[in-house]
Amino acid sequence: MSDEPEKRTRKPLGLKRPVDAGEVKQTFSHGRTNKVAVEVKRRRKLLKPGETPAPEAAPEPTPAPAPEPAPEPAPVAKKPEPKPAAKAPAGETPQERVARLQREAEEARLKMAEEARKRDDEKAKQAAINEKQRAEENRKAEEEATKRAAEEAEAAAKAEAEAEVAAQEPAVEEEPAAKGTPTPAARKFTPVARPEPKRPEKKKKKEDKGGQSQDGGKDKRRSGKLTVTKALNEDEGRRARSLAALKRAREKERRMQGGGSSKPREKQVRDVIVPEAITVGELAKRMGEKGADLVKELFNLDMMVTVNQTIDQDTAELLVEQFGHNIEKVSEADVDIQTEEDVDPAETLKERPPVVTIMGHVDHGKTSLLDALRGANVTKGEAGGITQHIGSYQITAKNKQKITFLDTPGHAAFSEMRQRGANVTDIVVLVVAADDGIMPQTIEAINHTKAAGVPMIVAINKMDKPEANPDNIRSRLLEHEVIVEAMSGEVQDVEVSATKGTGLDELIEAITLQAELLELKARPDRDADATVIEAQLDKGRGPVATVLVTRGTLKRGDTFVVGTKSGRVRAIVNDAGKQIKEAGPSMPVEVLGLGGVPAAGDQLTVVEDEQRAREVAAYRQEKATEQRTALAPTSFDTMFNNMASNVIEWPVLVKADVQGSVQAIVTALHNISTDDIKVRVLHAGVGAITESDVTLAAASNAPIIGFNVRPNAKARDLVKRDGVRMMYYDVIYHLTEEVAKEMAGELGPERIETVVGRAEVKEVFKSGKRDKAAGLLVVDGVIRKGLFARLTREDVIVSATTIASLRRFKDDVDEVRSGLECGVVLEDTNDIKPGDQLEVFEVEERERTLEY
Ligand code: GDP
Repeated sequence: MSDEPEKRTRKPLGLKRPVDAGEVKQTFSHGRTNKVAVEVKRRRKLLKPGETPAPEAAPEPTPAPAPEPAPEPAPVAKKPEPKPAAKAPAGETPQERVARLQREAEEARLKMAEEARKRDDEKAKQAAINEKQRAEENRKAEEEATKRAAEEAEAAAKAEAEAEVAAQEPAVEEEPAAKGTPTPAARKFTPVARPEPKRPEKKKKKEDKGGQSQDGGKDKRRSGKLTVTKALNEDEGRRARSLAALKRAREKERRMQGGGSSKPREKQVRDVIVPEAITVGELAKRMGEKGADLVKELFNLDMMVTVNQTIDQDTAELLVEQFGHNIEKVSEADVDIQTEEDVDPAETLKERPPVVTIMGHVDHGKTSLLDALRGANVTKGEAGGITQHIGSYQITAKNKQKITFLDTPGHAAFSEMRQRGANVTDIVVLVVAADDGIMPQTIEAINHTKAAGVPMIVAINKMDKPEANPDNIRSRLLEHEVIVEAMSGEVQDVEVSATKGTGLDELIEAITLQAELLELKARPDRDADATVIEAQLDKGRGPVATVLVTRGTLKRGDTFVVGTKSGRVRAIVNDAGKQIKEAGPSMPVEVLGLGGVPAAGDQLTVVEDEQRAREVAAYRQEKATEQRTALAPTSFDTMFNNMASNVIEWPVLVKADVQGSVQAIVTALHNISTDDIKVRVLHAGVGAITESDVTLAAASNAPIIGFNVRPNAKARDLVKRDGVRMMYYDVIYHLTEEVAKEMAGELGPERIETVVGRAEVKEVFKSGKRDKAAGLLVVDGVIRKGLFARLTREDVIVSATTIASLRRFKDDVDEVRSGLECGVVLEDTNDIKPGDQLEVFEVEERERTLEY
């Protein structure tokens, strides 16, 4: 059997024999046999839990039962321990070995579990400490919040808040327990227990966020911004409750103060500031009462008033007391601006230019003198040769000293304005024509100057005239207690000629000398005070006032009160017509930005803010209304007296181009009233004569005095229809003269104007060396050479003149009819502008028929 060993060698090869092998002899027919190697596969044995696989070395895999049932191995325990097998005692049986290995593994696992437990206990301890700390913080914060709440709320609220806090307190204490702080002893094998190990991490977050809810489930609600309330209130739920408590507390407090709507509010006693006069409405506002209640109360006092009516301080006091408030009476001094009390310290004062007013009888040369001094000639073409607009300017003398001239006309009708002018005037220059002598207005001027205590300089004018007799003037002045230097007096006198320009330097010298004696000073670096010289409503610029700065510096943008109006300086225009940024003491300037047209003589005062300006303006307005109402009964009395004594009233409407003229005319008209006949001014105002003026005049059968103004087109039609008598003047002297004569019954022949034509100025061009010619379009009637003509600009008369020459296509003509164009030269005037209206009229003198 040689095959056998061979066959044996063909045993399957392997690194080790995983199976048990054997040989099986196979016997076939015919004696053949075959040996087959048989493998027996070992059955894999599935280990039971806790079982360790039997060591390989053991030939018989018969695992010994585990000494004790092992718990499920922890993950960490799965780590292989250093193999003690190497140290295995020799001669150890497989069973012994298995048991030993199992024991060792179990020991290692227990050890690890113990370590993990220790670590866990440590963490839990730390968490408990943190928790306690935090709880303590919470409690403190809560206490803080409570304290604040308690402070804010009233006693009742306090109690409530405390109760709230009390209710919250246990929650704070319970907190650590509620959080289930791990009790180390209670747990054996919880090294990876889920909630606990994560807690310190969460807590850290909380701390970072300034302490928020400990409840992990409420995380989303924590996303809001950090606020003081949040910072101070750890617990979300508790915070909400605290806020509600606060709200309630506040509501209670509010109610206690009487602000609640549900409960009848408690009467609040106020200190009511009551000026000398106050409207019912304003008083109600100040008392915090309803206007209607006050009216009712006044009704009970037998006073029928409306909310808008003004009551006096005594009545107001009665009301204030009736309603249980305290009255705090204030006088004018408390509300109005008291410029007199506001005196500038001597060290702040600086020298200022003198303010000079030129006075004198009409036609004695005031305007000519002013013009001569100014170095300009504007007298030419001026209606009646008298200054009608009060304008002012400043000149710089040769010695660089500045002098301000107030251009006030010397006519008697302007006495009031002159008087006002004298208040700001430092020096009066009295103009007396050397060829004429002392006239009524000269005497008036002397009286006004004396009354104002203003030094005077006499300018004896028209010295160029051959009939000039200055000595006569000097001696005549003695009669009026004006003793000039030449008569060994103190009043300086200067001989001048306005037209020839002689003696002007001497006059300026005299003014400068006088000014030096006066030591005129004003503080420039303060808010300005100014006096209104004249004011008017300008079509394009709104209300415009010419003011003289008396002290301080008026600046663009300044807020001010002027009379009963307030305003803000929009622009300052100097005498040269240029816009300037500011104006110092003694400067005459035009001011734009007024809330209305003030009256000449009104004081302009710069105030700190708009509110103050409005307050003062409103107060003055109130006072003015009060004065008007107070005057009413007197007027009634007068009316009844008049009826009783058969006094004839002469009603009239006055319209003039500037406010100053209106005032002057009204005063003049009142002055010429006698005991038997009195002028009654129905209405007086600035601007063109309007439809409403004509209607009022027609209804009262009164004439309309138009001073430098004309009716507009619609009013003109009404005048014609209603037959209203129009009296046009451009010289106040003429006006008063005529009215006085008419009233005195010395009625001269009636002067009747008939308008024959109207034309519009289309263009203006030069004619000859000096004159200007106007290109006209005749729009109505005819224009005839030699006729009287009035040139108007926006219904205000620019000049009254005559048609000097009339041309059509270079040919002189006598008459041009409507619809045609022509060229005219107007006598004595070159002030023509395209767009001006020319009114051409005839004058007829007729025997007057008495209407009254
Ligand atoms: P006012 O009414 O006082 O303003 O007087 P005006 O200045 O309008 O002058 C009245 C008239 O007197 C005008 O015709 C002037 O030309 C004229 N006039 C003024 N001053 C002089 C002067 O010094 N000499 C002469 N000869 N005429 C004068």
